[in-house]
Amino acid sequence: MTEYQDLNLSPRWLHGPGPSDCHPRVLRVMATPSIGYTDPEFLQMLSEEQELLREVFQTQNPLTLPVSGTGTSGMEACIANLVEPGDNVLVCVCGYFGERLVDIATRYGANVARIDQPWGAAFEAQQVADALKQRPAKLVAIVHAETSTGVLQPLAEIAQVVHNAGALLLVDAVTSLGGIAVEVDKHGIDACYSCSQKCVGAPSGLAPVTLGPRAVEAIQQRKARVSSFYLDLALIDRYWRGDHVYHHTVSTAMNYALREALRLIHEEGLEARFARHRANAEYLWQGLEALDLTPHVPQPYRLPSLTTVRLPDGVDDAALRKRLLNEYNIEIGGGLGTLKGKVWRIGLMGYASSRERVTMLLGALDKLLHG
Ligand SMILES: *Cc1c(COP(=O)(O)O)cnc(C)c1O
Repeated sequence: MTEYQDLNLSPRWLHGPGPSDCHPRVLRVMATPSIGYTDPEFLQMLSEEQELLREVFQTQNPLTLPVSGTGTSGMEACIANLVEPGDNVLVCVCGYFGERLVDIATRYGANVARIDQPWGAAFEAQQVADALKQRPAKLVAIVHAETSTGVLQPLAEIAQVVHNAGALLLVDAVTSLGGIAVEVDKHGIDACYSCSQKCVGAPSGLAPVTLGPRAVEAIQQRKARVSSFYLDLALIDRYWRGDHVYHHTVSTAMNYALREALRLIHEEGLEARFARHRANAEYLWQGLEALDLTPHVPQPYRLPSLTTVRLPDGVDDAALRKRLLNEYNIEIGGGLGTLKGKVWRIGLMGYASSRERVTMLLGALDKLLHG
């Protein structure tokens, strides 16, 4: 008989594009025994989790809940529910996840138009206005924090332009929620999704989603049923906030973890948490420049949660990241798409955004690059 060993993984420091390290409190609650999905104590816990989610999304939206699945399930849920076959959708693409929005909207039968920016730049509101003038759309989708490029997309003016054109705004906040302000109500963002494993600080497995009144109305006015049963938000919402009728068995461990991660955010305070992410990113940027490494994105558009830095000439990308992992237990990410082999992606997300971690990472890079 084959003998399998106890699970014994190396203790990594996670500084790639996600997942990020979890606070010990998050790991501890995951060992809490399961209870039934209609147990009043479980339902009470879910309701608190929703309150905490509204706080981090900075919204009063009643329809705010974590979809079962990773960030991509949040993306797919928003599109599946808001888009019907033949609807015009405009997608702003300046990186890998914009491309994924195009892919998913196309699969759900939308007539997708796209505007593009180079990988490393953000969109101006005027570009969106021009595109909507040429061809109106029901929905405009944009990524707030593009993890493939390290660009932070300003949303205030774009939200105005989209609403002036009578369209709904869908925002991907997968790498911003919990690390950078995501102001759903202030900007009138109609639909927004994120994930549990980046700046929020839990393992992957849940996708927080929030829908505003115009988005809810769009769902109520659908002609056709949502083609995905599993991601039908009206059915999921009925379990979370309605008569709690069974739709699917939500994960106990994952929801314990997300609630605890959100409780940590609540205790720290949003402003303090954003300031911590910002201060540690600035400390990283200074340290990289001192090592003669150049960030890929100009300062005003740099993401505090994820920095792309250009590879120095003559350095073997894969070999260096392998040494960083094997000799220092540190994970950073390589480039994606057009930036493959050209940049590294350094994440400072949630619990892993700390000054000690940056000092350690810079020390390791210095040793590997300069001996
Ligand atoms: C990580 C990421 C996703 C996808 O999330 P998964 O949890 O990997 O499914 C989507 N959008 C952005 C911007 C991301 O960084």
